[in-house]
Amino acid sequence: MPTEKAHRVRLILGDQLNALHPWFKDVDREVLFVMMEMRQETDHVAHHIQKVLCFFAAMRRFAKALEARGHRVLYLTLEDPRNTQELASNLEWIIVAHGAQHFAYQLPDAYRLDQQLKAIGKALRAEVTVSDSHHFLTTRKEVGELFRGKKQYLMERFYRHMRERTGILMKGDEPIGGKWNYDQENRQRPPKVHVPPAPLFFDHDLRDIHAMIREQGVRTIGTVDPQHVIWPLDRAESLALLDHFCEHLLPSFGRYQDAILPGQWAMYHARISFSLNAKMISPMEVCERAVAVWQADPKGISLAQIEGFVRQVIGWREYIRGLYWDRMPAMADMNFFGHEAELPAWYWTGETDMACLRDAVGGSLKHAYAHHIQRLMVTGNFALLAGAHPDAVDAWYLGIYIDAIEWVELPNTRGMSQFADGGIVGTKPYVSSGSYLNKMGHHCGSCRYDVKKRTGPDACPFNALYWHFFARNRERLESGDARPGTMQRIGMVYRTWEKMDGGTRHALLDQAERNLAKVDRL
Ligand code: FAD
Ligand code: SF4
Repeated sequence: MPTEKAHRVRLILGDQLNALHPWFKDVDREVLFVMMEMRQETDHVAHHIQKVLCFFAAMRRFAKALEARGHRVLYLTLEDPRNTQELASNLEWIIVAHGAQHFAYQLPDAYRLDQQLKAIGKALRAEVTVSDSHHFLTTRKEVGELFRGKKQYLMERFYRHMRERTGILMKGDEPIGGKWNYDQENRQRPPKVHVPPAPLFFDHDLRDIHAMIREQGVRTIGTVDPQHVIWPLDRAESLALLDHFCEHLLPSFGRYQDAILPGQWAMYHARISFSLNAKMISPMEVCERAVAVWQADPKGISLAQIEGFVRQVIGWREYIRGLYWDRMPAMADMNFFGHEAELPAWYWTGETDMACLRDAVGGSLKHAYAHHIQRLMVTGNFALLAGAHPDAVDAWYLGIYIDAIEWVELPNTRGMSQFADGGIVGTKPYVSSGSYLNKMGHHCGSCRYDVKKRTGPDACPFNALYWHFFARNRERLESGDARPGTMQRIGMVYRTWEKMDGGTRHALLDQAERNLAKVDRL
């Protein structure tokens, strides 16, 4: 049968599942929407099996929903014999086979794809149009422009700009409640026995896609029960997850934002990052819904909780994206400390005696998710203390989390967590000894290591590694290459180090060296 002609071909990438995009408003049978599962994407790093499954399942649902509305869709599964597994060659044959005169794509969010699509656009024998993805609140350039000529980027400055621009939690020109930021009231240590409300799980049987992924030999990490996959796969489910968050979790979101409890992998976090990053829901509607729920119940939900949440979505998320576009491609190669080590082997198994890390890594492998403070202060903290190469750390984070797409993963990992950018994203290296982890959670009581000890076989490894990190990187931090003010912010650490006697310092460094030598067996 001859291929039905299409005047226009429009590409929808796997993270562009925005049902409200203007492309879909009117049905035009001259338009062929194209979606593809590709080895180019599955093999870029080893991804968590749940991530591959959920992206493919959500894409397939999206394609079906478009067809049900009368749109024409060409969907290439991974096993489709026509699939060349690569974007350029797939587009080439599709455009030729359908006699298309016009090719359009939405601005991609990953630098790699942006470059690739620009090159494809130049090579194609078709008129090319680039459309906005109609998802973000800011343009790619906005953060860069806001800080042009300034000594450094400042998230708080950007956040206020966003509050003023969107009017969210504003009364005229002033922030509601008179303050921009209520962090002081948040971030509490949870009681020892504390069970957050049960997370909302969906129950998807994805055995068919799972079998295909296995048959095609895609290398993945982590585990899944393919008959019961818990993540939202379309807009309706994403909105249900958001509603669940607003009703049950928002009242304590900020209060326990930094808390780490054994076995509690979701705490009061929204788990909407996959839905947001795949664009099934938008940041604006997320904030509007949360604010509406707070307005309806200002006694049950304090201003500190809603402000803390809004800051993550219109503040951090957009800020991170702006930094990515302002600093790519250089950001992807930064290694401020010149770290070279491999990640410890237990980052792929969770088999370590360190209870906090066992829980954070084990939970990530099981759920393709960890909450922010686990990513920053448990796995990220340890990787930085252990001197892991930022490439290895990036590859792990980009692979393991269901929400990991480079534009948001890379600045968070290489920047905020590893300080490999010298302080573009973060204001100082986010490292801590065991005492911080003990303060924010309750793992230490059941750990084989003693959080109070700094040396000896039972000493918490974080303690000596913390001092080793600052001692070995002193020259680099003092070089003047780091973000202005970094040394002032961490000056206290060096003052404490200098007050220690030589014997103590030597013992700490010696202990850290021994930890590093057997890091795979800690
Ligand atoms: P909540 O805690 O409920 O927060 C609500 C929303 O705020 C999130 O869904 C997210 O969209 C936004 N948000 C909060 N903090 C950030 C932040 N720092 N950067 C961007 N958005 C933020 N987030 C990703 O979406 N993808 C990643 O690959 C990713 N990698 C990270 C790696 C490291 C080392 C660190 C420290 C953080 C990373 N984050 C990443 C940011 C953050 O941890 C996740 O967005 C969050 O854990 C997602 O879970 P949630 O939806 O339950 O978030
Ligand atoms: Fe983690 Fe150290 Fe506490 Fe063990 S003692 S849970 S390694 S902080």
